[in-house]
Formats: sequence, C-alpha cells, structure tokens
Amino acid sequence: MRIVILRLGHRIQRDQRITTHVALTARAMGAEGMLLDSDDSGIEKSLQEAGTSWGGSFYVKRITSWKSEIKKWKDAGGKVIHLTMYGINLPDAIPEITADALMIVVGAEKVPPELYGLADWNVGVGNQPHSEVAALAITLDRLQAASGKDALKTQFLPGGERKIIPHRAGKEVISIIK
Ligand code: SAM
Repeated sequence: MRIVILRLGHRIQRDQRITTHVALTARAMGAEGMLLDSDDSGIEKSLQEAGTSWGGSFYVKRITSWKSEIKKWKDAGGKVIHLTMYGINLPDAIPEITADALMIVVGAEKVPPELYGLADWNVGVGNQPHSEVAALAITLDRLQAASGKDALKTQFLPGGERKIIPHRAGKEVISIIK
C-alpha cells in the first residue's frame, strides 16, 4: 500500500519541531513521503539529512493548495483518511479502510471544516485530544498490521550511510561502504 502524509496548518515558528517529527515518524514507519502545506523549507532539509544518513527515498514536497492535492489524489483512485479526535474510532474504521494508495491528513492548528467532507474517512485515534505524531504512528501501525505488515520492520538500507545494530545495552552504528 502506498501511503503519503498531508500536513496542514504548519506554522513556521511554532510547528517546526512537531512537523519534523510527523515526517520522521512517517518515514520510519513506511510512508513514501509528506506533502507540506507551507513554504517552510527547513523540514525538507532535515528529512534530506535523515535520508543521507539512514537511507530510503522519503520526500517532503511543499504544496500551495491542499484541496487540489486531495482532488488529484482521489482522481487517480487514491483514498483519504483525515485524523481527527472527532472521527470514527480507529479500531472501528480499520475493517472498512481498503486502498492501494492512501493519503493521511494531519493538522496542526484547527483544520478547514471542508476537509471533513473531502476525506473518505474521518478517523479518531481514540476520541480524546492528543498529538498528530502519536495519532499518525498508531494509525500507520494498525493499518499495516491489518494487511499483515509490521510497520516497525521497515528498513532503509538502500542509499544510507549508517545502520544501527540493535543491542540490549549500549549503542552500535556501522558505516555502510558504498
Ligand atoms: N486544536 C485543533 C483542532 O481543534 O482541530 C487540534 C490540534 S491537534 C494537537 C493537531 C492534530 O493532531 C489534529 O489536527 C489531528 O490530526 C491530530 N490529533 C490529535 N488528537 C487526535 C485523535 N485523538 N485522533 C486523531 N487525530 C488526532
């Protein structure tokens, strides 16, 4: 399943760190890229650095019209999930979410009300307010688990300079000779 994130409402001063975390989480858990509704180039740069070090082909693309990106996605046959605490609870939504290409929309500040009508599913990760990073991580995990894939087993060796060898204690990072 192709998964792309759409990040809305990013405020350059306030949201830099959390938007970077949204992208890093998406990258680490198997999404192919993130569309960012902002002209902030800092996020793109951070993710390029992560890609150089750790590999993979995750991209950040700055966009100017979130609505036309959703329209393009849907016209090409993709489906859209909007993560919102007001939506149908994730465990109840999972059985009806089937798609080869999925766009997952997360907000920062209040999202435009129109989005609720454009999304195929408005999904709550529980129905309490928390964080877009937590909501995205749990969604990516549950969605992929439903199709037999473990989101935490994503490997980014292709093109990376470094690889972590997991240990019960201590740190080991090896350099990849290209
Ligand atoms: N105050 C904003 C509002 O009224 O829409 C929400 C801010 S919240 C920190 C930012 C984003 O986190 C939301 O747009 C949503 O994508 C995500 N989020 C927060 N809690 C969530 C939940 N329980 N389920 C799904 N997404 C959630």
